[in-house]
Amino acid sequence: MLADKDRIFTNVYGFQSPGLAAAQARGDWDNTKKLMEVGQDAIIEEIKASGLRGRGGAGFPTGMKWSFMPKESKDGRPSFLVINADESEPGSCKDREIIRHDPHKLIEGALVAGFAMRARAAYIYIRGEYIREAEALQKAIDEAYDAGLVGKNASGSGYDFDVFMHRGAGAYICGEETAMIESLEGKKGQPRLKPPFPAGAGLYGCPTTVNNVESIAVVPTILRRGASWFASFGRENNKGTKLFQISGHVNKPCVVEEAMSITFEELIEKHCGGIRGGWDNLLAVIPGGSSVPLVPGEQIRSAHMDFDGLKELGSGLGTAGVIVMDKSTDIVRAISRLSYFYKHESCGQCTPCREGTGWMWRVMKRLETGAAEVEEIDMLYNVTKQVEGHTICALGDAAAWPIQGLLKHFRPELERRIAERAGAMAEAAE
Ligand code: SF4
Repeated sequence: MLADKDRIFTNVYGFQSPGLAAAQARGDWDNTKKLMEVGQDAIIEEIKASGLRGRGGAGFPTGMKWSFMPKESKDGRPSFLVINADESEPGSCKDREIIRHDPHKLIEGALVAGFAMRARAAYIYIRGEYIREAEALQKAIDEAYDAGLVGKNASGSGYDFDVFMHRGAGAYICGEETAMIESLEGKKGQPRLKPPFPAGAGLYGCPTTVNNVESIAVVPTILRRGASWFASFGRENNKGTKLFQISGHVNKPCVVEEAMSITFEELIEKHCGGIRGGWDNLLAVIPGGSSVPLVPGEQIRSAHMDFDGLKELGSGLGTAGVIVMDKSTDIVRAISRLSYFYKHESCGQCTPCREGTGWMWRVMKRLETGAAEVEEIDMLYNVTKQVEGHTICALGDAAAWPIQGLLKHFRPELERRIAERAGAMAEAAE
């Protein structure tokens, strides 16, 4: 289990004040200038060496992402850092805890990361429904400006860096990086075709990197304690500590920082008081927020909770929003509900997603009660395959994968419902 001395987020439960004085007492903003003095390239190299991979779901190496940004502007265009605080994935609730209880970690991270990638400013795009969180964040930004930590000559470093907060309006798709950029520019939040990638032409046509809140908030601590400290947690290629968010049928749902690669069983036993009704009562787990395939209970118990461990099980770490379902769950209804979510949140730009998400949801709805033909199960699978990988952004995949997970692991349950209903109908007809 991760020792308290190795926790990055020491106020994740809000036992102390989120304010500047308390944050400084916890070690934030401690000689930030010194962190920056090593130089931009050295910071990027340190983050590369730490093995930090993006905490927003995709898991792309953070240092490498920063290195795609131009080292100098040949045409006078500034560079920007956009921080994704749009956390809208069902099951994910970690960035919210950082923002409301530890916002200075994020703002200091924004300065250091922004400096490293030679950005002129950071835009923190926060989910519209996070009203109190937005208030806490703006308060912390104001405190940082008043103390000279950001703005002109930020933290006495000689580097000018602004931090802006922008509130979204509650659309899940604005969590996709290019849709977020469109929305920031005041347009409808719809994903852009890539290329060009944001590092070449992002916000206002300028070089931009979009990073998740947690990815940025851990940066100052990594630099203070060293890449090798961060890399001492987790398995090869899956380094560091991570905020896990465990919801559903555990005795004590919680958000907790743990070492990457902890086993599922250890995570649940140590922090959540076990599965409701015991391990024999575990049905399935969606380990990475709603957009990854579910894993049957018996397969996940000893799994390593990291990128590779969950990939081996045909699923993914995603945001580490772990949704636990015991045997009281109507698994078909649960996945059908997720299908409705993706149908509702599709931006409608591409036909496979716009039409496919609605089509898949309607079939899922009928499968809930068995009002379908057995052949439709294969047809549904084929449609998920026609949506997956054939759309502008990953929402199409996100809509397809939960259904694929259900079909892979719970097909007998679907067939049982169809047969049961057909039997009942025949009986009624007689
Ligand atoms: Fe919009 Fe869906 Fe296409 Fe993404 S995949 S751009 S959400 S229609």
